[in-house]
Amino acid sequence: MTRTRQLAGPTPDSAHSVDGSRAGLPFDSSLTAPPRSLSLSEVEPRSVVFLDRDGTISEEVGYVNHIDRLRLFPWAAPAVRKLNEAGMAVVVVTNQSGVGQGYFPEQLVHRVHERIREELASQGAQVDAFYYCPHHPNARLPAYRKVCACRKPETGMLQQAAADLGLDLGSAYVVGDSARDIEMGSRARARTVLVLTGYGKGNYEYRRAEWVNPFDFAQGHEHVEGQPDWVAENLLEAAERIVAETRQGVLKSKSLRVRRLKDPGLKDQ
Ligand SMILES: [Mg+2]
Ligand SMILES: [Zn+2]
Repeated sequence: MTRTRQLAGPTPDSAHSVDGSRAGLPFDSSLTAPPRSLSLSEVEPRSVVFLDRDGTISEEVGYVNHIDRLRLFPWAAPAVRKLNEAGMAVVVVTNQSGVGQGYFPEQLVHRVHERIREELASQGAQVDAFYYCPHHPNARLPAYRKVCACRKPETGMLQQAAADLGLDLGSAYVVGDSARDIEMGSRARARTVLVLTGYGKGNYEYRRAEWVNPFDFAQGHEHVEGQPDWVAENLLEAAERIVAETRQGVLKSKSLRVRRLKDPGLKDQ
């Protein structure tokens, strides 16, 4: 068993939390980051796939305000395993503003992540770390009421994970079912995949009219900030395509990034 713990991170917002594999040890970034004595050129940063939680690896149920409401998708473990086997880091990043609203205690988030970790492990799949944002600008509980750097679509959780785990954001992927996930990935210059589970199908149906080149996802197309690079049926299809694309070395071509939509819109959550 591992424990989720609060991090005192270097970013403006220090309340990101990580559920790492450092049970029993006080958090120390040197345990997971490249050793200080080595320069970056000597240590290859790992590629990473950031996964949204609710609606992406588990069913979107509004708020998981009780452990019994957690339902991992049956394809979640095979998908994560595929990424594990490809040598990519897998990091879950999730907005949990229900904490700040007082809908459920922060401890429940830790329990849910522990449960996810256990269920995945029983099928041979492993998540490297979980990060969550418990804040909201209008949170009912004052301790969580803030404009933070970690709430998606802000990129604080990605940057924190990269710093903690020695990850290469330049080759990162973000997979999620909401516009916030896609916008976050886009801001971080990651490749983005919208899955059609959770809120994904609605997002796809109602947003694609705003998207440039909206019908060409199966073929791949130029990157447009604020819109997904792909749409995938679910996380397993996303993982398969990520692994295939990574093998093809598509990520080397950063010239894929072209223009930005004026207002990607974030009204879904
Ligand atoms: Mg989601
Ligand atoms: Zn936050």
